[in-house]
Amino acid sequence: MKVKFLDLSAAYSELKTEIDDVVRKVLENGWYILGENVEQFEREFAEYCGSKYCVSVGSGLSALELILKAYQIGPGDEVIVPANTYIATVLAVSNVGATPVFVEPEEKTYNIDSSKIEEKVTKNTKAIIAVHLYGQTANVRKIKTICEKYNLRLIEDAAQAHGAEHFGKKAGSLGDSAAFSFYPGKNLGAFGDGGAVTTNDDSVAEYIRIARNYGSEKKYYNSVKGVNSRLDEIQAAILRVKLKYLDQWNAQRNKIAQYYIEHMNSNHKGDFILPQCSEGNKHVWHLFVIRTIKREKLIDYLNSHSIGWLIHYPIPPYLQVAYKEINHLSEQFPLTNRLSNEIVSLPMGPHLTQQEVEYVCCVMNNFIGEKV
Ligand SMILES: *Cc1c(COP(=O)(O)O)cnc(C)c1O
Repeated sequence: MKVKFLDLSAAYSELKTEIDDVVRKVLENGWYILGENVEQFEREFAEYCGSKYCVSVGSGLSALELILKAYQIGPGDEVIVPANTYIATVLAVSNVGATPVFVEPEEKTYNIDSSKIEEKVTKNTKAIIAVHLYGQTANVRKIKTICEKYNLRLIEDAAQAHGAEHFGKKAGSLGDSAAFSFYPGKNLGAFGDGGAVTTNDDSVAEYIRIARNYGSEKKYYNSVKGVNSRLDEIQAAILRVKLKYLDQWNAQRNKIAQYYIEHMNSNHKGDFILPQCSEGNKHVWHLFVIRTIKREKLIDYLNSHSIGWLIHYPIPPYLQVAYKEINHLSEQFPLTNRLSNEIVSLPMGPHLTQQEVEYVCCVMNNFIGEKV
């Protein structure tokens, strides 16, 4: 049996009639960027997240950058970010000219360790980006108290957490503003690039609504130095269809994750660590990330059994060549470094079949039984 890491075409197959229909309507309608579907989607996604506004943009990275710009964060300012995250979180900070300040993750969730944030706050700190990595929210309750104490903005990077909850509140409504990505592989994915900002803050929503479209509120009148970062009608129409299935698909991901957790012989001698969920969190399993010191052998074994896998991520942002000026900080982040050498993501998605899930468990257990 062959198990793909993620089968994006399966989502299209399930919704083919509905998607073909809305796409054709957009094509026939003749209006392709920022229109009716975009407006409707923004309303629907804001409501879904429990936030006052949703402003769609061209990508998740752009959403983060525009949030930082809305708060006038730039050169001389520091923004606290998790050391263990996707590069986009960090790029957003450096792209606006501010300085990313890294914090180690927690052992349990791999999200930012809130007990290590305060020691990194300086007089230049302006914001904390809480990344909800792999599908569960960061410890926002704790992070919020730090933000209040030092008067910092709390920005969510919710690119991997559409529908995730923290003590009953949805990602996207937990901080001052939040960035989402609709990259195809995300829990809510378009068939191209896309992103959004959710916020309750009138001035952030207004700034981004103008800035995303060349800084123009009225055509050919430019009130701010904006960018071109817009969602198109086709993607918005597709996202409106897929949003209706998000909860159902997240529930399916959760069912698969629970099956993996129940059936994999993990924690055997501590060599295999399965993902854990923190109190108060509803996990949406963007990724199912396990940790093992035998990663090389496991990967060979998965390859020889035709099971897809990926590593999220093999090189932490501050160790990338793009950040060579801070590569030397590496020794400050031993856990981040260890994780990048030990984590593996197993197949996860709403369209995995029960047979595929059982096969993955079986192969994993054979590996654990044989090699440990
Ligand atoms: C995908 C992702 C982004 C960036 O989203 P794009 O739409 O690809 O720009 C940002 N942060 C995290 C954590 C992500 O996973």
